[in-house]
Amino acid sequence: MPAVKPDALDRASPPGIVRDGRIPIASPAMPRASDLAPYLERIDSAGWYSNFGPLVMEFEARLAARFSPGTCIVTLANGTLALTLALEAMSLPKGSVCALPSWTFVATAHAVSMAGLVPWFVDVHPETGELTPEGLIALLPQAPGPVTAAIPVAPMGRPMDSSAWRDFQDATGVKVVIDAAAGFDSAASAKVPVMVSLHATKTLGVGEGGFIASEDPEFSARLRAMTNFAFLGDRVSRHVATNAKLSEYAAAVGLAALDRWPATRNRYLAAARRLRIALSDAQEVTFQEGWGVDWISSTCLVRLPPGSAARVEAALEASGIDTRRWWGNGCHLAPAFRDCPTGDLTATETLAASTLGLPFFADLSAEQIHRTAWALRGALAGLQSQISRSPPHDP
Ligand SMILES: *Cc1c(COP(=O)(O)O)cnc(C)c1O
Repeated sequence: MPAVKPDALDRASPPGIVRDGRIPIASPAMPRASDLAPYLERIDSAGWYSNFGPLVMEFEARLAARFSPGTCIVTLANGTLALTLALEAMSLPKGSVCALPSWTFVATAHAVSMAGLVPWFVDVHPETGELTPEGLIALLPQAPGPVTAAIPVAPMGRPMDSSAWRDFQDATGVKVVIDAAAGFDSAASAKVPVMVSLHATKTLGVGEGGFIASEDPEFSARLRAMTNFAFLGDRVSRHVATNAKLSEYAAAVGLAALDRWPATRNRYLAAARRLRIALSDAQEVTFQEGWGVDWISSTCLVRLPPGSAARVEAALEASGIDTRRWWGNGCHLAPAFRDCPTGDLTATETLAASTLGLPFFADLSAEQIHRTAWALRGALAGLQSQISRSPPHDP
């Protein structure tokens, strides 16, 4: 079975190769070469390869149809650049503060820094792992400087309420862009700009890519200009910008992936349902609310007993099952961001020590589900016996 190591720097085994008998953490559901062929033929006959060609336009129109009427889609070279350029398109004062959860992938923080803003790592809701508008309003008086922007993150694709963030933006003047990198399936409204990644490991992949959905056409036009040298229908650079366009080839993959999406989604849902059933008697294991029922993503994150993630990770590793602490112990600990201001991060630390990514992909077999559930139950039973073996009243 093909697998891709989700971290670019994790090259212990090359993409596409699975270590013997191990259950990989992920295996992207990408279109096959034969699915791409009709779109590649169209590129050949049009002779149009990039610069907002017909396939990119069609891909954006089909993505827009997934949101409320009037939503504009701007595709970009990847999700990280999409966040950076969304912040740039908001013309925020350099050196001002952008609030973001530490409970995210480092890409969010890189985007903030690359946009010339100061990342301020704040805590999340202890249950959902999400930065909420109420949570951030309460924290604003403790900000390390003038807060001009905020990037709430949809934890592993969990649905986010963009209207609540629009209300927050109206009330505070703080500009918001939602990082819903893994939220292809759940993102349905963009009252503030919403970023979805199209990386191969995310829910719908084109390889490398991303898009920003927004109901504000002026913002989308500014963002579009940021992706194309600040040209506006001519060849005049109006301000400093960059090149972050999606090519026609990437759009071909995106269109083929969209054609297959209803079937891919059903395969993900079926795998999720089987995994949930296999673990239904394990009361210490909690899935994200609605995951595999109301929405789906290409990852499976479970909540385990407090502080047990590292021990469960080690036990599954020994059973030949790959797991992933997707967001480590929070991205404020990365050397790149160690000097950035942080708020209290108690909930982040608790989540880091009690959540774990389990193997999950569309083709997860019954045998792999059984092995994973069996090993996980064994690891949890091991924790129980460790606890009962260690009371202080030994003779
Ligand atoms: C994957 C991811 C990104 C970055 O997306 P790319 O398309 O890989 O650049 C940003 N934020 C989060 C939360 C992610 O998971």
